Amino acid sequence: MISVEAARTHLLDLVSPLDMEQVPLAQASGRVLAEDVCARRDQPPFSASAMDGYAVKADEVEMHAMFQVIGEAAAGHSFSGKLEAGQAVRIFTGAPVPEGADFVVIQENVSRRNNLITITDDPGTSSNIRPCGGDFTDGQRMTAPRRLRPADIALLAAMNIPEVPVRRRPIVALISTGDELVMPGGTPGPDQIIASNTFGLKAMLEEFGAAARILPIARDNEPALRAAFSLARGADLVVTIGGASVGDHDLVGKVAADLGMERAFYKVAMRPGKPLMAGRLNQMAMIGLPGNPVSAMVCGHVFLQPVLRRLLGFDQEVDRFQSARLAKPLPANGPRAHYMRAAVSAGEITAFSNQDSSLLTVLSDANALMLRAPNDPERAAGDMMSYITI
Ligand code: AMP
Ligand code: MG
Repeated sequence: MISVEAARTHLLDLVSPLDMEQVPLAQASGRVLAEDVCARRDQPPFSASAMDGYAVKADEVEMHAMFQVIGEAAAGHSFSGKLEAGQAVRIFTGAPVPEGADFVVIQENVSRRNNLITITDDPGTSSNIRPCGGDFTDGQRMTAPRRLRPADIALLAAMNIPEVPVRRRPIVALISTGDELVMPGGTPGPDQIIASNTFGLKAMLEEFGAAARILPIARDNEPALRAAFSLARGADLVVTIGGASVGDHDLVGKVAADLGMERAFYKVAMRPGKPLMAGRLNQMAMIGLPGNPVSAMVCGHVFLQPVLRRLLGFDQEVDRFQSARLAKPLPANGPRAHYMRAAVSAGEITAFSNQDSSLLTVLSDANALMLRAPNDPERAAGDMMSYITI
């Protein structure tokens, strides 16, 4: 058995960052920026009014001052002349501030009669002008790697970048193994259950930025497993679920070895998820996850996420831990790292009392995995504990 950290290091050695591709901006949300991109213009490209009002000279602004209105500037329609002493230009939000003006008196602070305005309320000290380049300037960088969020997409659009260089999406093939498994919506026999892991893992992998393909369930015999592996061809990563322990029906290790897998390790000192194997299989990385639903999902967080981050070009592959105060005491941990299903709220963390690795209801109620290091001593309420959010 090896430690979680050693297993993760082996796993990261199996993969390297994928190629980059250009995608249209409208399809770039959630993708990972692969190269720095630079703004192609200033924003705003001119000093712009932030309010509806009157553009004037700041040093003429005072209560009861009067101005002659000589024209209008609206968004998309600038005023072409130059503003002189005693003059004002009617202006609307987003319009370029006319030459000669450096203050916008908002319309609420002004009374107007024909072409004469008078400042009737305290105009304040804010100029109500957005300076040229106040948001970003030409050449300003968005740095890679970066997972593009909706706000980033808006910023890239404003920068006038219609196509974005992103990492190719990692393709992950998911193989469930077991004679007992039936797809959701199917009709299970009296000794069968529904395959759940593949669906949970697909959802998780896609949240991490991968494209996951669910392959047909492989039955517990060698030809079926071999057929499943052949369907996985072309993926960057093949993930098997179940069949990885040492039972008579656990054939994943044997079949993968027959197909040429160079095994990097087998068995990790952690709970849940001890039987975990990984290696290279032809052009693909291969990870064999345990079948127990919670084990498979926890291993997804602990191992698949760092592998995907590496494929997507991030430097820091490991989830940063957060910490919270323990709400209820815990007994000492055994020799394996324990990722306990837990609930975090208002800075306090509580481990669920039943940590059985088959209970999806408990996992679904949890919002955190609390880490207990191997041989972590007894913990008292109030101790600070590390966790990752899930
Ligand atoms: P195994 O690792 O194949 O011995 O499976 C361990 C446990 O996980 C068994 O109870 C299996 O029925 C269950 N299991 C395996 N694969 C899946 C799956 N895809 N969905 C739900 N349960 C599974
Ligand atoms: Mg099985």
